[in-house]
Amino acid sequence: MRVPAIVLFLLSFQLIFGQSEYPKEAFRSPVDIPLILAGTFGELRSNHFHAGIDIKTQQREGLPVYAIADGTVTRIKISHWGYGKALYIAHPNGYTSVYAHLQKFSPEIEKFVKEIQYQKESYEIEVFPDYGEIKISKDSIVAYTGNTGGSSGPHLHFEIRNSVNQKPTNPLLYGLSVRDATNPSLVGLHAYPLSQEAQVNQSNKRVQLTYSKQADGTYLAEKVNALGTIGFGINAFDRQDLAANKNGVFSVLQRVNGKVYTEFDFDSFSFSESRYINTLIDYAYFGRNRKRIQQCFKAPGNKLSIYKTLFNDGKIDVKEGYSYKVEIDIMDLEGNTVKIVIPVEGVREPVLVEREENRTPYLLKTHVPNNYDLGIARVYFPEDTFYDDFYLDLKPGQDTVRIHNNRVAAHKNFTIAFDASKYSDDDRKELFIAHLDKDGKPQYMNTYKNGTSFSTRTRLLGTYTLARDTVPPKIRPRNFKEKQWLTNYRYLSLRIADNLSGIKSYKATLNGEWILMEYEPKTSTITYNFDDVILDKKQCMLEVVVTDNVGNSTTFNSSFFRR
Ligand SMILES: [Zn+2]
Repeated sequence: MRVPAIVLFLLSFQLIFGQSEYPKEAFRSPVDIPLILAGTFGELRSNHFHAGIDIKTQQREGLPVYAIADGTVTRIKISHWGYGKALYIAHPNGYTSVYAHLQKFSPEIEKFVKEIQYQKESYEIEVFPDYGEIKISKDSIVAYTGNTGGSSGPHLHFEIRNSVNQKPTNPLLYGLSVRDATNPSLVGLHAYPLSQEAQVNQSNKRVQLTYSKQADGTYLAEKVNALGTIGFGINAFDRQDLAANKNGVFSVLQRVNGKVYTEFDFDSFSFSESRYINTLIDYAYFGRNRKRIQQCFKAPGNKLSIYKTLFNDGKIDVKEGYSYKVEIDIMDLEGNTVKIVIPVEGVREPVLVEREENRTPYLLKTHVPNNYDLGIARVYFPEDTFYDDFYLDLKPGQDTVRIHNNRVAAHKNFTIAFDASKYSDDDRKELFIAHLDKDGKPQYMNTYKNGTSFSTRTRLLGTYTLARDTVPPKIRPRNFKEKQWLTNYRYLSLRIADNLSGIKSYKATLNGEWILMEYEPKTSTITYNFDDVILDKKQCMLEVVVTDNVGNSTTFNSSFFRR
């Protein structure tokens, strides 16, 4: 992003000499309905921490979104996935507010955006208006709430970032209030033997602990017999008063005999560290159960900056004959707390459950690059693709290769290259690299074709194959028929779909002129707004061309009348 030097200077001046870190009176709410959250800041998501709050919009779209303070639009991004339609406003106090999954922008911004879309002939755009080009005043309507991009229901995703380093901060630290007198909920408590010889309740493996609620509201866990270096993990969520949504907790505090061993919270983090969430959670457990245990100890490869306190990496060295009182406090932002007490006894017992390790021939040392030739495919892992060393499971099949499983997280992309030399030129055109999902269904992977070598870059472990897509996309009108009079219609809507490799591109013209079609992959719909172009002909010829990821293409032609 281009930011004039004087602006950077002013911003840093304000951050150093200005007000407190989270000014309480500076911002209004981005909506004029009560704040009820479907998601909290720092909430555990796939490969990232949630960088904002998700504000529920009463199961509706189209509610006005207000600028939280005076400012200037610094970025507008429209994409099929991710944030959908998103607006970024920088404020003079050094913060940037972000509004995402929008249905549309205010008329002024909408006009600015459409000009660029028509100029670039693309629905997906990203622009960085000059500082002051689109000035915004506090309380003005800048957009309307929607459900665009990677959103599974109408809501407003709202962020407050530090303008200088773009670090997202917890929007609830600025005095926006959410009714919340409800304690977080504990769903699961787990103990981990961490050192080679460590044991917990006669096991070398993770043990789920039982607990019961005491008269004073705290939880008391069953007594744990342990030896060696151990750690604990919790599965918890937070609820606010006015909705049943299971949101993320704000902070976790672990004490051992009164001493703070672990303390982390979510007032801020940086996007560059967000993927290390895969080291905070028990990733193997997540792969199996799709549930997230937050570990109170620092696992190998964990580079998170969220820790306020970390003693002995949050690990507890349990010695024979000693007793330990482990306490874990799980808190929301309002300070509502659930407390758990775990009595630990240093006892040596016979181990009944041994640690199991699948010793494959491929011990992967992650600090060096690794290359494997599987015959039909090669796999290349750059150094530090993974957080730790492990035994990699590799199995070449007839047409598939198994590259381990979903119980290990990759932090970096690795490369899979298939040899497609046994196929004819015509066949190769229709082939693509597919990841087989848990039901064995092929999912398209971005396939780079270089002669007979097909490669893809991915962070997803699992089974891969070459799949073939011979069927071109399907296009059908949703709200009109051939030769129909559409004078009173505001929109043209069509359904586009592809059976296998997925839609790569679409293009629509009206009487030969490119028109903007807004694509919503969730509903397989492309929509044209008749307000965009002034039609000077009574008869309109519509052409829509849709191409899938291997290049199969379908053209749809229709004509209609409009006055
Ligand atoms: Zn969100």
